Amino acid sequence: MTLEEVKQAIRNVPDFPEKGIQFKDLTTVFIRPEYLSFLKQQMVQKYRERGVTKVIGIESRGFILAPMVAEAIGAGFVPIRKPGKLPADVMEMRYEKEYGTDVIQIHKDALTPQDVVIIHDDLLATGGTMQAAISLVKQCGVKHIYADFIVELDALNGRNLFDTDVHIESLIHF
Ligand code: AMP
Repeated sequence: MTLEEVKQAIRNVPDFPEKGIQFKDLTTVFIRPEYLSFLKQQMVQKYRERGVTKVIGIESRGFILAPMVAEAIGAGFVPIRKPGKLPADVMEMRYEKEYGTDVIQIHKDALTPQDVVIIHDDLLATGGTMQAAISLVKQCGVKHIYADFIVELDALNGRNLFDTDVHIESLIHF
């Protein structure tokens, strides 16, 4: 199996959720157990020797692979969620979207200064969501951050938004 085969299985949905957006639908990949397993293995190989202690998933499409990889590399799983979902004390970050602002939260006691973390989301578009997650995680204080995606939309240059000390990894490029 190759990443090119997985790329071919991604469904492109024009004009979703609004006109002009080419939505990359990964449900057509996740529904195939051999693809799910292949993507997990690709990530596990990459991170196994990097001393990662926690894999952070961004709600909600980051919740699919992040816990699978966390379990496989012997790391913990931590969710970053939309407001009103996490029950204990939280830290939060507000960020600009195309229309209006958005907020993400993490539990205050989820991370320690010794943690080496992967922040995972399914797809990198403009980078706004991941940069907010990076700022939030930095506010908590960790040793090192990997920003990880299944898919990166290269033309949008989202990676240029990220701090230079963050290590960026994507498996499939459009
Ligand atoms: P951004 O903050 O612009 O990098 O957007 C990233 C978030 O929006 C990710 O959680 C993606 O799931 C979602 N997203 C943005 N653009 C697309 C797209 N063209 N196809 C699929 N998901 C997208």
